[in-house]
Amino acid sequence: MAIKPKIRGFVCITSHPEGCAKNVQEQIEFIQSKPAIKDKLNVLVIGASTGYGLASRIAAGFGAQANTVGVFWERPASNGRPASAGWYNSVAFEKAAQAQGLYAQSINGDAYSDEVKDEAVELIKENMGKVDLVVYSLASPRRTHPKTGVVYKSALKTVGEPFHSKNLDTDKKVINEVTIEPGNEEDIEATVQVMGGEDWEMWMDRLSLEGLLAEGAQSVAFSYIGPSVTWPIYKDGTIGKAKQDLERAAKAINKKLQALHGHAYVSVNKALVTQASSAIPVVPLYISLLYKVMKEKNLHEGCIEQMYRLLADHLYNPKGPQLDEAGRIRVDDWEMREDVQKEVFSLWPMVSTENIDTLSDFKGYQEEFLRLFGFGLSGVDYEKDVELEVDFPNELKSVNM
Ligand code: NAD
Repeated sequence: MAIKPKIRGFVCITSHPEGCAKNVQEQIEFIQSKPAIKDKLNVLVIGASTGYGLASRIAAGFGAQANTVGVFWERPASNGRPASAGWYNSVAFEKAAQAQGLYAQSINGDAYSDEVKDEAVELIKENMGKVDLVVYSLASPRRTHPKTGVVYKSALKTVGEPFHSKNLDTDKKVINEVTIEPGNEEDIEATVQVMGGEDWEMWMDRLSLEGLLAEGAQSVAFSYIGPSVTWPIYKDGTIGKAKQDLERAAKAINKKLQALHGHAYVSVNKALVTQASSAIPVVPLYISLLYKVMKEKNLHEGCIEQMYRLLADHLYNPKGPQLDEAGRIRVDDWEMREDVQKEVFSLWPMVSTENIDTLSDFKGYQEEFLRLFGFGLSGVDYEKDVELEVDFPNELKSVNM
């Protein structure tokens, strides 16, 4: 069956196995074109199948000869429906890693659960010994708390006042206005439960208890700050409260890692088109303008460039990472450069439905969105019939809840 993109709102419900494999291959080739980061790491990536997590797994695997265990929650192909993009990405990653003689094993299931943690512990014990790096890159709309069974749903709301803003409807290609209503205490609590730091701490505590953290072990989780136009919905909104909690968790984990001379960091990353970010109001408009400015200045980066810099310039920099005043790594430094922000915000009031193609890089936004699902990659024949069911080279550990 030939597969075409089917977009519903801000998700694409189809994905292309060969396109996803090409996307992974291009990221591998980028890493292979750069100086090596380090030799022979053992890495656990939680949220490893798409976006920043996938890129960090590729950067570690192919830039530091890393053996990797990847955790994600993806859907296999069934009843003539393609698998999710993260499934195809992970198959492609594992095949390429295996061809390089690297150990790569994946776990498909709910990372918030004890059962998935048990499975990861077993795999690490049997196959890696101890881990040098734990990347925590989950982006999820809900979490079932493993101890209480309570299901929390994260909210994308403001805190305090409603927020009116210019917005881009990516589906209709229309610039409109949105109003985002404030969340209540319950929304804040739920978003902190889902996207805050408790689960990251649970993972690190479990690995520590099992004696699976190597001397000097590091861990990193991701945050976003961005410009003031997005603050009411992001930094100062319900998701921002969760990110504050991630910073609290980083400090707590850091203390516990001291005995091993290890470190935990929050890395503030660039705004990029991923499945998670396309769901946030206002952000796609900002990204479309940002891409235009950063591409013109030759500063544009995708997830893989960001993760290469994170590993090479910070986590495995012999001089140690460069931190901001709050102790965070900042790979959003180019995005936040004064000249970049100034240009983005000179375009912001002018951009309209009529001039969107000239004032913004909406074309680049759309192309990158489709690439997330394996569409629009050069060298892939999209008219050809493709096999929807592709198997992992190693037996996939599926943890069904
Ligand atoms: P993404 O949607 O591309 O990836 C999310 C990953 O989490 C996938 O591997 C998915 O399978 C996995 N996942 C989700 N729920 C899961 C569950 N219950 N169990 C197991 N795996 C699960 O997202 P992303 O944009 O790469 O985001 C990763 C992190 O980076 C998030 O913390 C996000 O806030 C942060 N971040 C994103 C941006 C951006 O612009 N995209 C910028 C800065 C920081």
